[in-house]
Amino acid sequence: MDCIFCKIVAGQIPCDKVYEDEHVVAFLDIAPITRGHTLMVPKSHAQDLATTPAEVVDAMMRTLKKVAPAVMRATGAPAFNVGINNGAAAGQVVMHTHFHLIPRSAGDGLQPWPHLQYGPGESRQLAETIAAALT
Ligand code: 5GP
Ligand code: ZN
Repeated sequence: MDCIFCKIVAGQIPCDKVYEDEHVVAFLDIAPITRGHTLMVPKSHAQDLATTPAEVVDAMMRTLKKVAPAVMRATGAPAFNVGINNGAAAGQVVMHTHFHLIPRSAGDGLQPWPHLQYGPGESRQLAETIAAALT
């Protein structure tokens, strides 16, 4: 399969690895949003969150929890964002599911996302639609 993250997992393409276990590899993003920007990548290929087995998502999250304090200690960043670009419309470019860990510091210049406002009753109706879609 022509997947850049599968090639990194297989050692066919080098990476700046910070952690590896049975299920997950964590390595520095080649084009970081901030210094220390780290990717949690499962060893098994899955395109997105929906097709990633729950136990693999658990392992990705456990890796994130383990790696985050080390990234903060190493970079001096007091905070971080976690991101998943899930699907092309959300900005996913590498179609092998992954979490982004992005160290954050006051004054780093990254802008928060803008917010919308719901109209009257709109959020209740949407919540009910989402809840119904879960059953
Ligand atoms: P996405 O937009 O798919 O969520 O993010 C993919 C990320 O992978 C990007 O931030 C990009 O910089 C990073 N990336 C793409 N190719 C490589 C690579 O070959 N090595 C590393 N370390 N990161 C990569
Ligand atoms: Zn892959």
